[in-house]
Amino acid sequence: MKTFADLGLHPDLLKAVAEQGYTEPTPIQAQAIPLVLAGRDLMGGAQTGTGKTAAFALPMLQRLAAHANTSASPARHPVRALILTPTRELALQVEESFRDYGKHVGLRIAVVFGGVPIEPQMQQLRSGVEILVATPGRLLDHVHQRTVNLSQVEIFVLDEADRMLDMGFIPDVRRILALLTARKQGLLFSATFSDEIKKLADAFLRHPVLVEVARRNAAAELVSHLVHPVARERKRDLLVHLLKSRDMKQVLVFTATRLGANRLAYQLNRSGVHTAAIHGDKTQTERIQALEEFKAGKVGVLVATDVAARGLDIEQLPYVVNFELPNSPEDYVHRSGRTGRAGSTGLAISLVCGEETERLVEIERMIKVKIEREIVAGFGPDVRDAPGLMGRPDRDRRRGADEPRLTGSRRADRAAPPAPKPSARPVDPIFSKPYEPGAAPPVERQRAPQQRERQVAALLGGFIRKPG
Ligand code: AMP
Repeated sequence: MKTFADLGLHPDLLKAVAEQGYTEPTPIQAQAIPLVLAGRDLMGGAQTGTGKTAAFALPMLQRLAAHANTSASPARHPVRALILTPTRELALQVEESFRDYGKHVGLRIAVVFGGVPIEPQMQQLRSGVEILVATPGRLLDHVHQRTVNLSQVEIFVLDEADRMLDMGFIPDVRRILALLTARKQGLLFSATFSDEIKKLADAFLRHPVLVEVARRNAAAELVSHLVHPVARERKRDLLVHLLKSRDMKQVLVFTATRLGANRLAYQLNRSGVHTAAIHGDKTQTERIQALEEFKAGKVGVLVATDVAARGLDIEQLPYVVNFELPNSPEDYVHRSGRTGRAGSTGLAISLVCGEETERLVEIERMIKVKIEREIVAGFGPDVRDAPGLMGRPDRDRRRGADEPRLTGSRRADRAAPPAPKPSARPVDPIFSKPYEPGAAPPVERQRAPQQRERQVAALLGGFIRKPG
């Protein structure tokens, strides 16, 4: 096994890597670092969690530092490296990585993205920046305002190119590419290589080397999806109930906010479920410690925000729970992709209340799967929210002929739900207890046709439900 020193990295970078606690390079790092150091263009088939950020950041820092300028004048610090990312979260994470890995190197780093005031970014850019991490739209704003000049960029990185494509950023990326007249080296990272990505690569890479590492969710690895419709104020109790009654261990729970993560972790601990939280307010050391405890099984539940969870690499995580649905369907895909790995099936459970109905619909539209609904006895949704949350008109429910089959190995042993009769109280098929009167029938199942599963597999690279 190669060490970081074997890869040809400078002692200043080796020191930073050691401070991060990395003992050996990941496969993408072992392959990419020597190539980038040698000045080659690269097409990297790798997604978050593989260590791809260090795979490009470390050799870039080394190449840039070799010709660093020690002058204090901003004019002597033009942007020499540009990293484009599709989202602000990723931009922040990449910038943080450059700061961590480059802390003994002394290059000026900045990040710009939309949705925040542009003025502070302008000031920072005017003071001279050598490594710039940016989302495409806001970068073009700066170009138009003439606060940034890209004509001296030597190294250009396009990170998560497939997501850029999904989010419609490619025209902006092409506009930016046209401004990089001094570009010497180009790196493109993408989890998938569609024809469109290849076309884009042709536009700016010169004789690129293709470096690929195993996908996190290879086709054989499976994720099932399940929605528990629930009243908002009952979510926490339902979560405790599920964790205890199903003896769920190693559960990654997502909340929308840092405050929400803290609060939930506190409440779960009070309910006797040993829980840790990770989010942006925690230091790197605290995050690592929480993760280590989680991996070692000392805490069974890890509550996280999307930002904090990015880059978490946990083997064989059986459950992901969405305590709140994410705002963007892409984040749902990223969250769910944390389970169903290493050949074992995983389950992504979402606790969904009435006001999240719209988000649920968007997620289903994006993943092209109608997610199964399951009301847990005693934890139903508000009555007025039930029809929307169950997501199927009444007449569909009565169609006996195409009564959906069971999906996912986990549920293959369960009986089909009984048709609700007005006089009898329907039975929850999991707990064999009556469900809340007045709520919708206990279980809604719909099997996505094979064709849909194939589409989803194509779209999400193996992020599919197991065929029944
Ligand atoms: P990335 O794929 O770049 O998002 O990185 C995923 C996570 O792996 C980040 O939290 C990094 O800090 C961590 N990481 C990167 N390289 C290594 C390494 N060689 N050893 C251990 N952890 C690493």
